[in-house]
Amino acid sequence: MDLLAPLREAPEETALLFDVDGTLSPIAPRPELARVPVETRVELARLASSYLLVACISGRPGEEAAALVGLDGIRYVGNHGLELDERASELAAQIAARAELEQVAQRAREEGLDPRWGRKVLEVRPSVAADKGTAVRALLASVPARRGLYAGDDTTDLDAFQGLATAGLDHAVRVAVESDEGPQELAAAADLTVPGPEALGRLLATL
Ligand SMILES: [Mg+2]
Repeated sequence: MDLLAPLREAPEETALLFDVDGTLSPIAPRPELARVPVETRVELARLASSYLLVACISGRPGEEAAALVGLDGIRYVGNHGLELDERASELAAQIAARAELEQVAQRAREEGLDPRWGRKVLEVRPSVAADKGTAVRALLASVPARRGLYAGDDTTDLDAFQGLATAGLDHAVRVAVESDEGPQELAAAADLTVPGPEALGRLLATL
């Protein structure tokens, strides 16, 4: 059975969601060296003009993900979906405050002081709840999507798979982009696997 056929048949009600690093772009030695292959960019541009929604959910800040993929007509969500959380600015402030407190605690430890007071302050701060699954559900809820695909390569993409599967779609396809470092659970949870970002580009050409 061709799992992609229902997507191809109804692009007007289909959302295509992608992780970026290791999924659209091959893993690079340094983040700034990452590139999306031109063949993949051509397909993404075509899909963005014919499908209901094409979106990228990245661990990078949204602007950086947008610059890396470099295409209009695509929605970019950064920081593993944190940017879609309605409490985004509040959470960002909390993360910054937490990082500052951790530095203070670290300096205290380096000076031989007891940083327990610091830990106490850290503990009362709420944890960040945003994840890729939440971002996937929020994106799908923002459009009249009935069918969807999510492709990813890493542990955080398991959340996105879960988000796609629980969004109430008529047809959902989870694609694992395999790599040597990638988690085995991802392929186990996927409906389809491809051997790398270039192969994902070829899969997109069939949509
Ligand atoms: Mg990735």
